[in-house]
Amino acid sequence: MNKPEFDITYSQLPPQLYAHTKPDPAPNAAYVWLNNSWARSIGLDPAWLGSDEALGMFSGIQDIEEDYAPLAMAYSGHQFGHFSAQLGDGRALLIGEFVDSDATRYDLHLKGSGSTVYSRRGDGKSTLRAALKETLFSEYMAAIGISTTRTLAVFETGETVIRDKAHKGAVLLRAAKSLIRVGTFEFADIMKGADIVEKLADFLIVREYADIDIEADDRHQQLFGQIVSRQAELIGKWMSQGFIHGVMNSDNMALSGETIDFGPCAFMERFKPNQVFSSIDQNGRYAWNRQAEMAMWNLSKLAESLLDLFDENQEAAIQIAEDELSKFFPQFMMHFNQFVMRKLGLSIEGEQAEDMMSQTFAMLSTAKPDYTLFFRYLGDVLTGEDESLLVALCADEQPLQSWLSVWRRHIENEAITTTEIAKNIQQINPIYVPRFRLVERALEQAGNGDLAAFKHLLKALQDPYIEAVEFADYLFVAADDDADEQTFCET
Ligand code: AMP
Ligand code: MG
Repeated sequence: MNKPEFDITYSQLPPQLYAHTKPDPAPNAAYVWLNNSWARSIGLDPAWLGSDEALGMFSGIQDIEEDYAPLAMAYSGHQFGHFSAQLGDGRALLIGEFVDSDATRYDLHLKGSGSTVYSRRGDGKSTLRAALKETLFSEYMAAIGISTTRTLAVFETGETVIRDKAHKGAVLLRAAKSLIRVGTFEFADIMKGADIVEKLADFLIVREYADIDIEADDRHQQLFGQIVSRQAELIGKWMSQGFIHGVMNSDNMALSGETIDFGPCAFMERFKPNQVFSSIDQNGRYAWNRQAEMAMWNLSKLAESLLDLFDENQEAAIQIAEDELSKFFPQFMMHFNQFVMRKLGLSIEGEQAEDMMSQTFAMLSTAKPDYTLFFRYLGDVLTGEDESLLVALCADEQPLQSWLSVWRRHIENEAITTTEIAKNIQQINPIYVPRFRLVERALEQAGNGDLAAFKHLLKALQDPYIEAVEFADYLFVAADDDADEQTFCET
C-alpha cells in the first residue's frame, strides 16, 4: 500500500483567504463507494484510498500528522445576481493537495465534513443523496468529455442530516484541478490592501495556467483571456450535451474551467430551450439557453475584481477587460457550433454551419424530441434508412421531416461514406444520460439503504456510448409535462 504525499500550497496565500479547520469526527464512517479506477489513473493507490488509515484521515478520526493543516477557503459570490460578501467553504474542506504522475496538482476536497467559520447558519453537513447525485453527474460528465471535478470516494457518517426530512449523512471526497472561483477573486478584491488579488492571480497562473510567463507585465490580461476561453469551451460543451447547471452563481464557477457543484443540475430530456429544473430558479436565470449569457456575466464580475492588475490607468484597464470579454461570445459560438455539427455527423463550417445550427434548433423547438436520443438515432437513419426510431421521439413529425431533407443533402456532400458517418455519430452521441426519473429512483433507494440502483445506473453512465441489454430500461422519452420534475440544491 502506497500512502500518497500530501501538502497544501494554498496556505502560502495571505491568511485572509482561508481558515484552518478539521473535519468533524465521524467514528462510524463507512465507505459506500470508491472510484478505484480513476484513483489508479491519477496515481493514488486504491488500496490506500480504501484503507482505514485513509478513511480515518477523511473522517476526522486520525489526526493529520504532516506539516500542513487542512483549510476551508473563503470566497464571496453573486447569488442569482445579488452579492454576498461572506460565503466560503461552509460544509467543505481542503484536506490535502496531491500531485499525480503527470505533475497535475489536485485539491482533495471533502464535502459535508462539518461546519467551518464560513457556515453561517448551515450545519456543514451533506446528505447521502447529494453525495451520490454529484457522483452520478460528475462521472457522466467525465465520460462524455466535459471538464469536471470528480468523486474519489463517498462515505456514510452514520449521522442523520435533516433537510426536507431525515436523511442519511455522508461525506464526498472530490478532486479538483483547483477550487479557486470567480467568487474567490471577488472576496480578495474586497479585502483591500496587501496585494491579495495579485497574489491570488499569480498563484492561479503558476498552478493552472503555467504557459503564461509569470514575469510578463501583461500576465493578468493573458490569465483573464485564457479563463474566458476555457469558460467559452465549457459552456459550449454543456449546451451541446443538454446540460443545465442550475446554479451558475459566481461562487460556483471554477477558474480551472472544470464543472463544479452538482446541486440542482440536470440534463434536458425533451428539447425546450428555456428549460429550468431548479426549484429555486423562479425566473429562469440559469435556463439552458441563458448559460452563455450568465457565464459572461460572471466573467464580467471577475474582470471587475482584476481591473487594477490590468493597468494603473482605469480607462485603459476597462478597455482591456472589455476587449477580452468581447472574445467570449464568438468563442462560445464557435465551440457550440463545432460540437453540434460533430453530433450531426457534419464537417461543415462557417456560414453553412451557422445556418444548420439555426435550422436544427428551430426544428428541435417544434418537434420537441428527446434531446439525447435524437442525436444518437440519427446514425440509424443512415444505416438502415429507418426513421421510425427518430419519428417516435418527436411530438410533431412534420418539422423533423423537412429538417431531415436538409440534413441529408449535407450528408451527401461529406467526403466519407454514410457507414463511417453513422459510426462517428454513435461514437460522439451517448445513448444514456442521467434522466431525472432514473436518478431520483437510484437516490431514493440509496436513501433506504439499497445501493443497487445507484451502482447499476452509474455503470451505464460511465460507459454511455455502448448500448447494452441490461440498461434497456434507461431508454425512454420523458412525458410532455415535466412540471413535477424539479431539482433541489439539497444544501
Ligand atoms: P452552493 O450554492 O451549494 O454552492 O452553496 C452556497 C454557499 O452556502 C457556500 O458558501 C456553501 O458552503 C454554503 N452552504 C451550503 N450548504 C451548507 C450547509 N449545509 N452548511 C453550511 N454551509 C452551507
Ligand atoms: Mg458552491
